Amino acid sequence: MVRNGAVFLNEIQQELLDIVTQVRAHLEYQKALGVTVVESIAVSVSAPAIFVQPMSNPIQAAEPAPINTVRKEVTTTPSPRILSGTLIAVREELDECTRCKLSTGRNSIVFGEGSPEARLVFIGEGPGQEEDQQGRPFVGAAGQLLTDIIVKGMQLKREDVYICNIVKCRPPGNRNPEPDEIEACEPFLIKQLQAIKPQFIVALGNVAVKTLLKTKAGITSLRGTWQTYQGIPLMPTFHPAYLLRTPGDKKLVWEDIKKVMAEMEKIKKG
Ligand code: URA
Repeated sequence: MVRNGAVFLNEIQQELLDIVTQVRAHLEYQKALGVTVVESIAVSVSAPAIFVQPMSNPIQAAEPAPINTVRKEVTTTPSPRILSGTLIAVREELDECTRCKLSTGRNSIVFGEGSPEARLVFIGEGPGQEEDQQGRPFVGAAGQLLTDIIVKGMQLKREDVYICNIVKCRPPGNRNPEPDEIEACEPFLIKQLQAIKPQFIVALGNVAVKTLLKTKAGITSLRGTWQTYQGIPLMPTFHPAYLLRTPGDKKLVWEDIKKVMAEMEKIKKG
């Protein structure tokens, strides 16, 4: 069938529109995962050469750039369809947060990252210097140890789980977050967990355990024993930063992590 050139052009314009929509949705998704800036967006459209002609508003093919080699601020307006009850919605609501005094000294909000459908969520205390610089959780020395636990120990990828903190901005000098800071940030953590609906939580260290469980009991007495947070099984264990100072206790954390793996395996099979 011979088709009218204008009709075909309309189809291509529609296809370009679809691509733009998809790229936009992808950026929104990345933003919800904590990526806030991108260097460039490359879109390669496989259309016959004849149609890769200058148009009034061409999308040019370029060298693909990794999404997290970043420079330019992404400003997207998520559609209500994507927004409701999702991590994106929580990130949007958090916005450029100034709800507590930690906002004055931060470089980045460290929202959290990983799978929005993670079965397992790790919750630490708050960003350190490296995390504050990069806007990503657990990317410093303690983060490397956590990554080893996930990747080498649990045989998972970091992207399979979700990693976040009790507070999203760096406490100065890496001090513990204060009660008013925790109180300001906690609603967002609760909403993140409501969006992800994980099957398991690992609480890393005293601040996470005490905040989530509303207990005065310390990590040393609670670690390795199953607890419950909002109906979700929660395993308290030592914080990786503590393990860097006390490597002899790594074997205890491994015991705790093995309990988590065993339960995850049971649910997968059951
Ligand atoms: N320690 C934490 O508790 N969280 C991080 O993201 C990094 C170090």
